[in-house]
Amino acid sequence: MSRRGILFVLSGPSGVGKGTIRENLLADRNDIQVSISATTRTPRIDELDGVDYFFMDKASFLLKQSRGEFLESATVYSNMYGTPRDFVESNLLKGRDVLLEIDIQGAMQVKEKMPEGVFIFISPPTVDDLLSRLCKRGKDSVESIEERMASCRQEMSYMSDYDYVVINDDLDEAVKKVEAIIIAERCKTRNINLE
Ligand code: ADP
Ligand code: 5GP
Repeated sequence: MSRRGILFVLSGPSGVGKGTIRENLLADRNDIQVSISATTRTPRIDELDGVDYFFMDKASFLLKQSRGEFLESATVYSNMYGTPRDFVESNLLKGRDVLLEIDIQGAMQVKEKMPEGVFIFISPPTVDDLLSRLCKRGKDSVESIEERMASCRQEMSYMSDYDYVVINDDLDEAVKKVEAIIIAERCKTRNINLE
């Protein structure tokens, strides 16, 4: 039985653990294509171009945006981010599942264009947990952490627009839940070509 590719969108406040969940999820499986976003953000010390992001200057980003090369794009904490449209569409057409790890503004844009996608909101156990994770990550300035915390309260109100909510309390449990969602979605009749 052939199957259509499914678009999974992992989203939630910054520092909630989206990247960590994605890494753990992919450590055990290679049957899902992860989209690499474009960004105007400066690379962090351990980040590689073409692996973590496609790093580019603002002019290049704006040119791609004006050519319609992004499925969605958003300014997040003063930097621009975008999902390359081609990668997503071509993989879905080939029947391959695709995973996006993007912010809430971007997820809502994707929902408008591809409502058949599966939208998963990753929530922190508490707002205090989020603050301690952002501090522990040690990759953001105090100002940047304050900015991320200020956005969090408003972002939490979008939870009801998603198909699933996974609370990232115990990491292994959260990874198992996202994996269970992926497996269940693949079994849905609407995602299987029954002819
Ligand atoms: P995001 O990608 O959502 O911005 P990260 O994956 O970078 O978030 O996680 C932020 C920090 O929280 C990292 O230091 C990570 O190790 C930590 N973290 C992630 N999940 C958990 C968890 N379940 N419990 C405790 N710390 C976690
Ligand atoms: P960071 O700079 O910490 O890597 O990411 C900041 C935020 O931007 C995170 O919430 C991350 O999920 C989000 N992000 C990463 N790539 C994209 C993208 O292509 N589009 C959108 N809208 N957000 C993204």
